[in-house]
Amino acid sequence: MSLPEPRPGIMDIAPYIGGESKIPGVNRVIKLASNEGALGPSPAAVEAYRAMAGELHRYPDGGCSDLRKALGVRWGLDPARIVCGAGSDELLGLLCRAYAGPGDEVLYSQHGFLMYPIAAKTAGATPVTAPETNLTMSVDALLAKVTPRTKIVFVANPNNPTGTYVPVKELERLRKGLPDHVLLVIDAAYAEFVSKNDYAAGNELVDAGSNTVVTRTFSKIYALGSVRLGWAYCPPNVADVLNRVRNPFNVSQPAQAAGLAALADEKFFALCKAHNDMWLPWLSEQLRGLGLDLTDSVGNFVLLRFPKATGRTADEADKFLTAKGIIARKMGGYGLPDALRITIGQDDEMKAVVAAMKEFLAP
Ligand SMILES: *Cc1c(COP(=O)(O)O)cnc(C)c1O
Repeated sequence: MSLPEPRPGIMDIAPYIGGESKIPGVNRVIKLASNEGALGPSPAAVEAYRAMAGELHRYPDGGCSDLRKALGVRWGLDPARIVCGAGSDELLGLLCRAYAGPGDEVLYSQHGFLMYPIAAKTAGATPVTAPETNLTMSVDALLAKVTPRTKIVFVANPNNPTGTYVPVKELERLRKGLPDHVLLVIDAAYAEFVSKNDYAAGNELVDAGSNTVVTRTFSKIYALGSVRLGWAYCPPNVADVLNRVRNPFNVSQPAQAAGLAALADEKFFALCKAHNDMWLPWLSEQLRGLGLDLTDSVGNFVLLRFPKATGRTADEADKFLTAKGIIARKMGGYGLPDALRITIGQDDEMKAVVAAMKEFLAP
C-alpha cells in the first residue's frame, strides 16, 4: 500500500510548540510564556469584536480596506503598500512560498524566531543560520552566509527570544551588503515597545527600494493574539505578489473590527507602553540583583540565563516556577537550553516571579 507522501522536507519540520497555558491542579496560572500584552486588549477592541456577532454569516472585506487606511494614518504609510494577514506568521509563510523554493536558501540569525525555518521548509527551501555576537544578530555574519542561492533574509528586530536589537543604521548596512535580488524581511513584531533613538521599524528601507518588507502584528502590544491579525509594509511589487498568493478572505471581519478599534484607542496603547516601560527595567533589575544573567531586552519579555550547576539550572527553575503556578517559556528549541523567557505581565505577576526566583536561588 502506498500512502500519500508530502513533498521532500515537510517531515523535517519540527512543529512549532506554543507556550503552555494550563497547569493541572492550579486555578490561577500566571501565563508569561507567549509575550501576550500584559493588560490584555483595549476594551474598545473587545467591544468591536463582540459587535460583529450578528454578522458572522457575511464574508469579510477581503481587502481589509478600512484597516489598511487606519494603519496608513497611524504610521504615516501608503495603504496601497500594506497587506494584512492572519497574524504576521501567515505573511512570513506566504513570502517564503512566493520567493523561495527547493534549492533556495532562507537565511536568518542563529537564535532567530522559529517560524523562519518552519516557513522555509514548508516552501521546500533550506534554512541557513548565521552566528550571533552576545545573543545579538550580526550583520557581518549574515552577509558572510549569503550565497547565490540565498533568496530571503529574515531578521527580527528586536529579536524574539533574545530581546536584543540592532540600530536601523545596521539594517541599512545589511540591505546595502545584500544583492538586490535578495528579499530582506524585517520582522518588527515588538517595534511598539522600543524607545531607543537609534531604532526604527525599517519603513524607510522599504521606501528606498523594491526588495525590503517590514512585518508587524496586533498580537503583542495590542494583545490580540487570538484574532490572528498582522500586516506587512511592502514595496508595490511585493504587495502585488502577496495579494496574489494570499487567500482572498484571509482576515476575518471580527479581527479587522478589533484591530481598527485597537488602533483608535491611543490612550490604552499609551497605557500598555507605559506599563512595559516601568516593569521591563524593574523585572530586569530585580532578577540581575539575584545574580541571574539577562540580555538587554527592549521587548515585552526578558531572557534569563541560568548556571549549569545542579539545583540551579533553567529546567529546574522552570519546574519550580510551574509549581508556583507561573508558566515561563523553555528555550531549548531556540538552542538556548540554559535560558528561560519570561513575558512582562501584570504588577502582581511580576512580583510573584521575583519572589519565586528569590526562593529558587536561596542558598
Ligand atoms: C509573536 C511573533 C510573531 C508573530 O505573531 P503573529 O501572532 O503571527 O502576528 C512574529 N515574529 C516574532 C518575532 C514574534 O515574536
